[in-house]
Amino acid sequence: MADFPRSLIEFQRRFPDERACAAYLAQVRWPDGFRCPACGHAKGWELVGKAFTRECAGCGRQTSVTAGTVMHASKLPLTVWFWAAYLMATHSNGIAALQLQAQLGLGSYKSAWLLCAKLRRAMVAPGRAPLAGLVEIDETAIPLHRRDEPPAGGQGRSRQGKMLVAGGVEVHGGGPGRVRLATIADFSARSLHAFVEANVAPGATARTDGWGGYPGAPGVTHDPHVIGPMAAHIVLPWTHRVFANLKAWALGVYHGLRQQHLQSYLDEFTFRFNRRRTRHAAFRSLLGIGVARMPTTYNMLIRPEATA
Ligand SMILES: [Zn+2]
Repeated sequence: MADFPRSLIEFQRRFPDERACAAYLAQVRWPDGFRCPACGHAKGWELVGKAFTRECAGCGRQTSVTAGTVMHASKLPLTVWFWAAYLMATHSNGIAALQLQAQLGLGSYKSAWLLCAKLRRAMVAPGRAPLAGLVEIDETAIPLHRRDEPPAGGQGRSRQGKMLVAGGVEVHGGGPGRVRLATIADFSARSLHAFVEANVAPGATARTDGWGGYPGAPGVTHDPHVIGPMAAHIVLPWTHRVFANLKAWALGVYHGLRQQHLQSYLDEFTFRFNRRRTRHAAFRSLLGIGVARMPTTYNMLIRPEATA
């Protein structure tokens, strides 16, 4: 694979039109030349009337270069998908739907939002490995978007306009490795144990601030540091830094996070953090290249709980 574009100008030269994008997809899909996914035959024709589809010379099956990617059956041009994924993967803060609409000249906010949502959904790799080794674990409360704040004196779903988040950060040789973030209902042992069980590998060592909710998490050695709140950033420097970055990002890019989509924003932050040194891989995973994935429908996106 040729070097990945490092600038907007390089990107524009590399992917100027539909054909260039399709050629890239074909190259990733069939690095050694076309191979029919049905019968394994190595000979196929590009169809003239059907864009970017090859027909197998053996069994006649037609395979599109976008099959299995997030772009499949989309009405948007491949160039729009490529640009959106590139901007989302390379902007260190990500890009909101409104900016994307303006930058790509998209006709409606809804299609820009849908594009962002589909790319964001690709940010959780199926079967990703849990955190391992030494893992800092902590919890925090982050402010809600103003529109999601409960009315004064009313019975809000959240606590004083905040959402609770648990986080884990691998520590490798004094620096941060991968991150996981999840919404939690409360700071109870039950909620925190569920977070540890879902995100930390058996045999790992969990370093915490000694809060009573952590001991007894299944399969994990507990390394509690009982401290006053002032010293937490010394014992758990990386979770504290990640939480601080998360809050600044939420305010800066989204003006606070909406409750309904909180987990998907946490997934976006995690994705960008974990691929901060591999933007090329980020671009490809966003487009679903090389990843088998079920197509995402509009309903799955607006009702995330239906598919969680
Ligand atoms: Zn075939």
